[in-house]
Amino acid sequence: MKSIIICMMGIFSFFGLAKAQENYAALRKAMVAIQIQGRGITDPSTLAAMGTVERHEFVPKDLKRYAYQDRPLPIGNEQTISQPYIVAFMTEVLRLKKSDRVLEIGTGSGYQAAVLAKIVDSVYTIEIVDELALEAKERLKALDYDNIVVKAGDGYHGWPEKAPIDAVMVTAGAEEIPEALIDQLKEGGRMIIPVGPHNGTRQLVLVTKTKNKITKKNLMAVSFVPFTRDD
Ligand code: SAH
Repeated sequence: MKSIIICMMGIFSFFGLAKAQENYAALRKAMVAIQIQGRGITDPSTLAAMGTVERHEFVPKDLKRYAYQDRPLPIGNEQTISQPYIVAFMTEVLRLKKSDRVLEIGTGSGYQAAVLAKIVDSVYTIEIVDELALEAKERLKALDYDNIVVKAGDGYHGWPEKAPIDAVMVTAGAEEIPEALIDQLKEGGRMIIPVGPHNGTRQLVLVTKTKNKITKKNLMAVSFVPFTRDD
């Protein structure tokens, strides 16, 4: 009798889990249609990645049910996972190709890195808070992302051993654009970075590097957790 009850409980929890996965898939589909396509994102690879990566796996357990809502969420250590639309916008403007090597500064939960990893072959990501770097590394491994390398450290200096890089994405608000990140960009490379005064509104700046010049273009006003420095 006891084993029948245990077996029944197993079946119910299996179906409960399957139901929850189904709900998350439906919420994700609606997120892409309403928040992302609905606001003008059209790049097919960005839309496909946002529709595949399981955002609920990247937020704290008690916030899973809010994972697909139109807002950033806290991820611990006073940091946040960005609003889905901002993740999609920053991804689309980098005009990524499959063969690209991308450097992200500010791993946080690892969600943005996972979105990038669905589109390109190699993602390198640096996180200054050791605990978050370790958590993201374990989470991405458990979810089978094998083309992302996570490093704990200050991303201000970039990752010289991985240069030249096709595209850089900075997901913390900087007061200025770190020179090392521009240096490590390939000719033809792109960088997206929120720039502006500490505690003020920042601009998402798209930096493009060509043989003879660096071009900077302000794309939209945003609010991001600050870019910090190791002492
Ligand atoms: N991309 C993340 C969210 C980023 S929140 C995600 O998808 O979840 C910004 C992150 O940048 C925080 O985790 C913060 O600790 C980190 N950060 C701030 N300054 C940094 C620096 N100098 N180098 C590396 N990471 C930094």
